[in-house]
Amino acid sequence: MTTGLVWEERLMWHDTGMYFGPADISPWIEPIQPPENADGKRRIKNLLDHSGLTKKLSVLSCSPASTEDVLRVHTTKYLDEVQELSDKGGGNLGLIGSTQVGNKGIDIALLAAGGAISATKAVLAGKVDNAYALIRPPGHHARPNEAMGFCIFANAALAGLYSLDMGGLDRIAFVDWDVHHGNGTQEIFWEDPRALTISLHQDNCFPPASGSTNEIGAAKGIGTNLNIPLPPGCGESAYLAAFDKVVLPALTVFKPQLIIVPCGFDAGFHDPLGRMMLTSHSFRLLAARIKAASQSICDGKIVMTHEGGYSPHSVPFHCLAVLEELSGVQTDVIDPYLQPSQNKTDELLPHQADAISRAEDVLKEYVL
Ligand SMILES: [Zn+2]
Repeated sequence: MTTGLVWEERLMWHDTGMYFGPADISPWIEPIQPPENADGKRRIKNLLDHSGLTKKLSVLSCSPASTEDVLRVHTTKYLDEVQELSDKGGGNLGLIGSTQVGNKGIDIALLAAGGAISATKAVLAGKVDNAYALIRPPGHHARPNEAMGFCIFANAALAGLYSLDMGGLDRIAFVDWDVHHGNGTQEIFWEDPRALTISLHQDNCFPPASGSTNEIGAAKGIGTNLNIPLPPGCGESAYLAAFDKVVLPALTVFKPQLIIVPCGFDAGFHDPLGRMMLTSHSFRLLAARIKAASQSICDGKIVMTHEGGYSPHSVPFHCLAVLEELSGVQTDVIDPYLQPSQNKTDELLPHQADAISRAEDVLKEYVL
């Protein structure tokens, strides 16, 4: 078993400038480094290296996504806008949420998208069994014609469309466990019956008013979009229940030939941009379930693309746990944030079960 890891130092040079937080710019807010920054990703890679795990993985290089690749999702007008701002020295691209492109930054955004596609090519070619693209900027909020929430190009969706249009696949599935709604992926495949798009996220967090259970796709894509909006405060029990009652049955019925996980760690209990309670152990269990499902459905073919996750303290341990599960290699690392008391207080509460059962109703009505 080999797991691929996409890593390129240049991706860490994506310049996101200074940040005023979610509020409008105010003379009372001292600007600060934004949550999406190179340091958080480097700390992940450092722990992978320090643990010895990187040596057991197949490190994959990436080349920039081509214009043809990008135009599978994005409009020419949008690509031109990104190019123009990049050529002018950079600035904020997004209408909702901060999305900075740096000076000549389009090259790095294309490299990130290319990293997701490289991971997919390696899995489809059988060079590796599964792969994790540790890339930035992230992608799951990016719309065909709009940057959003730190995302410029829709990395995971671009990888998915590559696998369908160029890789010879007929059916793929996305399981997005970032704490924010995977609105971009949903929109891109809204009418496309070839892709099952599933998002588990904090209800009505980001983007606003996006990601309800009523959003099920349209035209030939009806029943191929499943949202599982969860109330704030959910922990491992709620996520496992959502997996067992909704995600895994949907995958079993849809039978994708590749599972893509837009993998965010901002449902972690330290995260400043989410209000969930997951630990590295929780992410390990989610990855193990996806891996087991993939082995029975699609020969273990999984591609994960790095999305959110903004606690520089705990995210490296979350990502290490996921990569240990993907690769089957256990390191000696002990997560110091795994307190014995954490899981004793974690139980599936009635309002959380209600939220999951609403998604289960949609699954039964439209998918099963
Ligand atoms: Zn997120």
